Amino acid sequence: MKLTIVGSGDAFGSGGRLQTCYHVAIPGEDFLIDCGATAIIGMQQLGLDPDRVSTIFISHLHGDHFAGLVWYLLHAHYVTRRTAPLTITGPKGTALRFATAAEALFPGSSKIERRFEMRFLEYTEATPLQVGAVQVTPFEVSHPSGAPPYALRLESADKILSFSGDTEWVDSLLPAAKGADLFIAECFSFDVQVGYHMTWRKIETNLDRLGAKRVLLTHMSTEMLAHRDHVRDARVLLAKDGMTLDI
Ligand SMILES: [Zn+2]
Ligand SMILES: [Zn+2]
Repeated sequence: MKLTIVGSGDAFGSGGRLQTCYHVAIPGEDFLIDCGATAIIGMQQLGLDPDRVSTIFISHLHGDHFAGLVWYLLHAHYVTRRTAPLTITGPKGTALRFATAAEALFPGSSKIERRFEMRFLEYTEATPLQVGAVQVTPFEVSHPSGAPPYALRLESADKILSFSGDTEWVDSLLPAAKGADLFIAECFSFDVQVGYHMTWRKIETNLDRLGAKRVLLTHMSTEMLAHRDHVRDARVLLAKDGMTLDI
């Protein structure tokens, strides 16, 4: 499993980082975890082919995590003339939120006749969903976004990659992260508690309970970025756009 960080930023462009998007390559297929508005820009910067992506796993329905689907569709239709099917998994209502966003930004775009199948699958709490070679299990977290928000546990072959989504600390992160080869954790602030987001202090306190082999901090605010040198734990890495990790 090879992870490439396309976007590790928050919703405010802190540190000049792109919005949330992780690209994962496994033998025979590529997939994305979240697709912020800047996803296609980041993928083009890194030379990643959007048409090779077979599945996009969405954590929650905030624009910095799903709005890139709008540009994904335009790129696939007008630029590459994609024919390969694309599966999108997300919370209940993802298909409608996508269509609403697409219509608001590019009127008529949700109704264009596509050359490829775009399939939406919805999560059921703590219930594994098999998509291609990947099994995703969603665990509801705490982050109001108009639909249930989730942490995602993705398993393929013998590897486990988990993602917190955006959330304040909740114990549902424990089954999501347990034994993971890598747990990608949103870490909006260092020690200033901001509503429905995580602090480094909370993650640090819970590292043993989380039980992940490695933890990658992401979605960092300006305040967190300013304190990044104070994070010192052998298990913990700090995300950066363009960074790659073998899992
Ligand atoms: Zn976010
Ligand atoms: Zn969010």
